[in-house]
Amino acid sequence: MLYQADGSGETGHSFSSDIKSDNHFDVIIIGSGPAGYTASIYTSRAKLKTLIITGSLPGGQLMTTSEVENYPGFPNGIFGPELMINMKQQSERFGTAMITDEVKKVNFNQRPFEIYTESSIYTAESVLISTGATPRKLGIEPEQAFAGRGISYCATCDGPFFKDQHIVVVGGGDTALEEASFLTKFGKSVKIIHRREHLRASKILQERAFENPKIEFVWNSSVVDIKGDNKISSIIIKNIKNGEEKKLNVGGLFVAIGHEPNTSIFKGQIEMDDKGYVIVNNYTQTNIDGVFASGDVHDHRYRQAITAAGFGCMAALDIEKWLAEKRN
Ligand code: NAP
Repeated sequence: MLYQADGSGETGHSFSSDIKSDNHFDVIIIGSGPAGYTASIYTSRAKLKTLIITGSLPGGQLMTTSEVENYPGFPNGIFGPELMINMKQQSERFGTAMITDEVKKVNFNQRPFEIYTESSIYTAESVLISTGATPRKLGIEPEQAFAGRGISYCATCDGPFFKDQHIVVVGGGDTALEEASFLTKFGKSVKIIHRREHLRASKILQERAFENPKIEFVWNSSVVDIKGDNKISSIIIKNIKNGEEKKLNVGGLFVAIGHEPNTSIFKGQIEMDDKGYVIVNNYTQTNIDGVFASGDVHDHRYRQAITAAGFGCMAALDIEKWLAEKRN
């Protein structure tokens, strides 16, 4: 069958596995978090020639997480990096090819699709975008040094490690308020530091937070420094209106100021919402026939390893079906 970039008609590209190049694949998966690895386990196991282009740091966000206690199947928990290495090995077992490289450019306007990395060009009948999202950072110097040593970007993941400690949450959106409320189950105290005096969060979450006796708000303030030896022991906050600085003793600092989807290389190639998240229709399909998306790159609501893995599975099944239909 011959068809065009929009999936119809004729372009001169024969849609079958007849391209023999080593760089040509049935499926190219961009990104190696739980979504990408899970999808590859399914597509490789279904005998589709699959390549994962992992990015420069294979494994995604879980590589910087400590213990994961809520991924089913590990009753005693598992370290994030170990979980990702397990997924990688499971994927390799079924023959997935893997390249540790960054994708620099894609061309979805022709078939087969073209994927450019620093060193090579790959072609594919179908593409899965699973490049994830990156939590927004405070952007202050000690932040990097304390990551995993008191700073967290995910309360659901790390909250239980901060039992009976003084906790600070930064942000004024739904995530910050939901995380603060969750963290009151563990922390001795929970303070929300927000840079304005009005919250962006929905009214219902605001009401719940205001009613929660364990949550205290600190308005018009931002975190300007982080102190501690091996772990965070205190932070310095600054009142944006009067410039006053104050020290707060804290054991845990949760940064909940939003996420940035990793989609810059797809700009102009596929439909995204105003925040840059890939728009999916009909479960995992993008607006380009044959290009799919799964995980945090389109899901800004759940953002869990297990939901990303679930979306990866869904995308793989959709790809399998899509390829089978096109090839008949
Ligand atoms: P968000 O809505 O973009 O809110 C980010 C918050 O962080 C804002 O209050 C913002 O302040 C603040 N902020 C941004 N950059 C900052 C910086 N550099 N320093 C200090 N503060 C900064 O992000 P989100 O809360 O993660 O929510 C993302 C999306 O998911 C939203 O659409 C939200 O509704 C949705 N969500 C829904 C639920 C739910 O329905 N239960 C739960 C979680 C998330 P300003 O307000 O001053 O801009």
